[in-house]
Amino acid sequence: MTPRKFLAFAVFVCLALATEIKAQTNDATNQLAHDIFKQLIEINTTDSVGNTSVAAEAMAKRLRDAGYPESDIFLGGPNPRKGNLVARLHGTGARKPILVICHLDVVEARREDWSIDPFKFLEKDGYFYGRGTEDIKDGDAILMSAMIRMKQEGYKPDRDIILALTADEEGGQSNGVAWLVENHPDLIAADFALNPDAGVFELQDGKRKLVGIEAAEKTYQDFELKVTNRGGHSSLPTADNAIYQLADGLARLQHFQFPFELNEVTREYFARSASILGGSIGADMKAIVENPPDAGAIARLSAMPYYNARFRTTCVATMLQAGHARNALPGVATANVNCRILPGHTSDETMTTLVEVLKDPNISVIPIVSRGAGSEATKPSPLRPDVMGPLEKVSAELWPGVPVVPQMDPGASDSSVLRARGTPSYGVVGVFTDVEDDRSHGKDERIRVASFYAGVDFYYRFLKALSARQ
Ligand SMILES: [Zn+2]
Repeated sequence: MTPRKFLAFAVFVCLALATEIKAQTNDATNQLAHDIFKQLIEINTTDSVGNTSVAAEAMAKRLRDAGYPESDIFLGGPNPRKGNLVARLHGTGARKPILVICHLDVVEARREDWSIDPFKFLEKDGYFYGRGTEDIKDGDAILMSAMIRMKQEGYKPDRDIILALTADEEGGQSNGVAWLVENHPDLIAADFALNPDAGVFELQDGKRKLVGIEAAEKTYQDFELKVTNRGGHSSLPTADNAIYQLADGLARLQHFQFPFELNEVTREYFARSASILGGSIGADMKAIVENPPDAGAIARLSAMPYYNARFRTTCVATMLQAGHARNALPGVATANVNCRILPGHTSDETMTTLVEVLKDPNISVIPIVSRGAGSEATKPSPLRPDVMGPLEKVSAELWPGVPVVPQMDPGASDSSVLRARGTPSYGVVGVFTDVEDDRSHGKDERIRVASFYAGVDFYYRFLKALSARQ
């Protein structure tokens, strides 16, 4: 190669590298994501005084400005304060659509509890602050920026990509995903769904530990335990007493453990976590995925609430009420028992077990109907290669060596609404958070600035990897 040719080649390589780096960081997309994030944080979307319709409309305007036709944008909801947005990027139709859900509402935040204004977007010391920065307006902004970028680049996926930004995940009476499923099922019909509001990308001491994909959730179910008694004068105690009867039953429940059980997701979670963690915990994890599982290892891991909740149903007393006067025998005693039921099991089945454990026909067990996230029994979503493959590929590109780990959430998200209706759903958060510094729902909520921009890049790549023409 002549020096001149070499120079030309070197310039070409430099240009190619520069383009490559630019494609990865994409300043314009980062700026856009930042601006959307700020705009959303500063629109109050709490249940008490907020309004998700304002946020949904602001996002619709941005999509229109980016070239989405009116026919691909839907705005609607059960009441004017609880709006939802659904937008569609059309693909070739070679495969069934992907749905991405993310909620617009946030948990209440009182100015006097925070050291800063929760509804003012603040960047400080490497963090973005504000109510919803972690849960989950970061996800809304990331997904919006990806939808806009793909549109502007003229990207044609091999399947439609549907984005649904919704109301009332955190509470309230107008859950947007449930409302869409009931009123506009065709708008959100998909092969599977993604939800950045579930699963964890773990950061520990500033190091990326794992990329989680949440593929199962427990079911939420409250039961009221109730003992009634004829009561009477407290100077004449009787052999039966509502408070003692209920307390005895609760003590039996306290010492009861639901059986150990793994499913496809938790088995994989413990198997992969075993080698990530190593040490004695890693060895115990390895021993519980064996067949048969090691009883000693189960007992040791059961002592840790974080792991215990992942391999058995739990039922725990959370509220207690009894009596009507200091000088009267109690006429009634009640307790609330909150259960988190493993996928594949029903609340009827759990109630039967409770009745057996309480061992007292005088304690009635009454299920409390709730309509929130997680109130319907769901099955784990299968760890499909067409989802796991692209996730592993993109994760390896961005964060080589960081393992992808399937997760089951002991809590519940909007994914449960879709899973209950047969749409597999995967919680993929996209943003690394410090496991020791989880401030979602709490005071001075924040995420790392660098993690947010990495999430912008990640979701753009991930959506493309899931929809690249075959
Ligand atoms: Zn959330």
